[in-house]
Amino acid sequence: MTLALAVPVFGPPAAGKTTLAASLGQTPGSAVFRLREHVPETILAATATSAERLGWIDDFTVVTALRSYVDATVQADEAHTVFFDNFPGNGAQVRLFLAALRQHAPDCMVSAVELTVDVTTLYRRAFQRRVCHRCERDPIHDPRLPAVPSADDAQRCARCGGILHPRRGDAPRLLRARLNRYRQTADGIREAFAAAGVVVTPFDSGASADQTADAVTALLVRSSQP
Ligand SMILES: [Zn+2]
Repeated sequence: MTLALAVPVFGPPAAGKTTLAASLGQTPGSAVFRLREHVPETILAATATSAERLGWIDDFTVVTALRSYVDATVQADEAHTVFFDNFPGNGAQVRLFLAALRQHAPDCMVSAVELTVDVTTLYRRAFQRRVCHRCERDPIHDPRLPAVPSADDAQRCARCGGILHPRRGDAPRLLRARLNRYRQTADGIREAFAAAGVVVTPFDSGASADQTADAVTALLVRSSQP
């Protein structure tokens, strides 16, 4: 199974990137890349405490993590499609990303997805969404994956029964800073993809997560047909 399609998923906070990547990544032959899972704990910890850095990770760490992931995925030969959750994060990372693919998987197609959502929905989602510290053992206790609340008690995790918590980065001050940063970097991401001839397709994620996943799947099927 040769790596044939790379799908970077980017967009503002709470647009549904992680939900989309996790949902599509469950398809057999698919995988999900999340940068923070491939970055040394000490570097993650250094980025977590300051609102200015907001999880910013230096280019050297990014390119090292990315190259070793792509190389290992190609060697393992188990995935034909990889979804890149919230990556690349800026124009420079787009160029690093495309260079890594050219080197390790030269025949891999790239189809980028930009999720969009109106600001009201974005704030409502960020306010409502919860994570589970028990189900997601994050190295710096900053879980990110959306947890499903129990049907009996919306404060508890449907999977383990533990108490759910807001995401650390969804605190109002951090959310505003993350949204501003996205607005500052999004043009650079789009321009770097455009310069490399990669199509970026915007999707409004204001509808349900399933509808968004279906729409993106339809696009990927269309774009993988000759
Ligand atoms: Zn749980």
